[in-house]
Amino acid sequence: MSEQRQLCLSGKGVTKVYGHGKTKTIAVNDVDFEFYSGELISIVGESGSGKTTLIKMLLGLTSVTEGEINFLGEPRDISTKHKKKEYWKGIQAIFQDPYSSYNIFSKIDTVLLDCIHMRGGRRLPKEQKIEMMREACSFVNLKFDEMTNKYPFELSGGQMQRLMIARIFLLKPKILLADEPTSMIDACSRATILDFLLKLRDEVGMTIIFITHDMGLAYYVSDTVFIMEKGKIVEHGSANDVILNPKAAYTIQLLNDIPKIHDPWEFSRNRREVSGAG
Ligand code: ADP
Ligand code: MG
Repeated sequence: MSEQRQLCLSGKGVTKVYGHGKTKTIAVNDVDFEFYSGELISIVGESGSGKTTLIKMLLGLTSVTEGEINFLGEPRDISTKHKKKEYWKGIQAIFQDPYSSYNIFSKIDTVLLDCIHMRGGRRLPKEQKIEMMREACSFVNLKFDEMTNKYPFELSGGQMQRLMIARIFLLKPKILLADEPTSMIDACSRATILDFLLKLRDEVGMTIIFITHDMGLAYYVSDTVFIMEKGKIVEHGSANDVILNPKAAYTIQLLNDIPKIHDPWEFSRNRREVSGAG
């Protein structure tokens, strides 16, 4: 095939146990994974399969009970506040509920300006900062001039999620973790958000880890798919291999649960051309 795939984030034996005794839950159970640069990777599984817990460990928001995580080929070190801050320059997330991710008392221009400052742009001239914010808004089809002086809660769910992506555009992390970013917004905005994720991969070169319980969405966007069941990764591979030729019983069950409108023929026809896959 073409160019060498570059390892970006990987894990070995990654495990998360919550509680102990009778309340013990093994949310993520001894998983291995390798995520490659510039890919859009989906992690698919039903509610409770451990997807969010895995994302929180990758982000460093919750501790890893056992196992190791490597970032850009090196063991990840987030042992101090400073190292964690450095790590977050390379990896960022957007979550299901966009309203929960903001300080709702910050105006939108402040939210965007903070991103520029986090990237070391505090001393840039004001006009240049405005130009950067304008570019970020236009990346997600928002008008910056209509955003200034507004508060996040004045936007719709779909607009909020687009603003989250505008933030990511400014922060330019190597990796974006997107935890069910479309599940709380209307169907109409849903496809748009997915297209912006693809645009981040294609135009900014970001590696995207997209969490979903929806096999159809995963097929629409992914290069690579990981299937999670009860804390375990039961199958992974290229989106075509996993979804058109599933091996694990659980994957087959997830595919059977999809309404018939998405049969494999429909999948092939609607599938976007993705880099390296066709
Ligand atoms: P998903 O995102 O796939 O729905 P989660 O990672 O949220 O799955 O949850 C996996 C399992 O871990 C579930 O059984 C859930 O109840 C449990 N769990 C998640 N967060 C916590 C927590 N903070 N304390 C205890 N148990 C948790
Ligand atoms: Mg979740």
